[in-house]
Amino acid sequence: MKDYSDPRMHTAEHLLNRAMVRLFGCGRAFSSHIEKKKSKCDYRFSRPLTAEETAELERLVNGVIAANLPVREAFYSREEAAALDLARLPEGAAGDRLRVILIGDYDACPCIGQHAGATGELGGFRIVSSSFEDGVLRVRFKLA
Ligand SMILES: [Zn+2]
Repeated sequence: MKDYSDPRMHTAEHLLNRAMVRLFGCGRAFSSHIEKKKSKCDYRFSRPLTAEETAELERLVNGVIAANLPVREAFYSREEAAALDLARLPEGAAGDRLRVILIGDYDACPCIGQHAGATGELGGFRIVSSSFEDGVLRVRFKLA
């Protein structure tokens, strides 16, 4: 069960997920633990991250934060959502309309959580550490 208690941290999760998809073509995090001070996301992956890749992830996410993109919600039918090429559609969601969170033109993802109003509210993003074990890459991060 995801913890949506910190909207800024949770929004950072969206940004990191899209950065992982863009840089590595992997899926979004299959598991995450979001807390105010430090959060972590787990990805299906094949190896550890290099220092250069970690820096590239930070650079990409911080670029989106600096761009102060608006975060807004939209409601789509399942057919429309499928056409958006979203990473995953939640199974068995109630009703026909899916709530999709749009972060500028950077990311779109179905989500029921609470988010920052714009990416600039996140301040800054830093990867504290990452580790790899049994096909799972864990990324731990903080906000400024
Ligand atoms: Zn969300």
